[in-house]
Amino acid sequence: MTSYDDNNIFAKILRGDIPNDTVYEDDHVLAFNDISPQAPVHILVIPKGKYVSVADFGAQGSAEEIAAFWRAVAQIAADKDLPSAGFRTIANTGINGGQEVPHFHVHLLGGKKLGPMLARSEAA
Ligand code: AMP
Repeated sequence: MTSYDDNNIFAKILRGDIPNDTVYEDDHVLAFNDISPQAPVHILVIPKGKYVSVADFGAQGSAEEIAAFWRAVAQIAADKDLPSAGFRTIANTGINGGQEVPHFHVHLLGGKKLGPMLARSEAA
């Protein structure tokens, strides 16, 4: 597995080196608005621990961190009134997944009908 890069942009956000538009924070989790939103609601939820991807987090994260992370995703979705109309969570991983920032994050997208999960040209 790729080792963690302390210079990735979300590590810099966690250190306070660059600003972010925070929507939620607790001991284990930070969530902030995506700088380039692709839906009316587009929030990035990240663990504060150094995990490269969902695969890394799921394998190496503590039970407390994993519980806190998914509780936060649910809490933020509820705070933004997303569950009734529906929403989407995405965790891009690695090269095939199109992951740009190598610190595990979940995209929380909602506020409109989001269309198909993948563009047809990208399917299969
Ligand atoms: P991914 O392709 O899954 O790694 O997604 C990375 C996301 O991070 C993209 O949606 C970017 O728009 C977003 N992003 C990059 N830099 C920042 C930043 N400084 N603040 C908020 N979002 C960012």
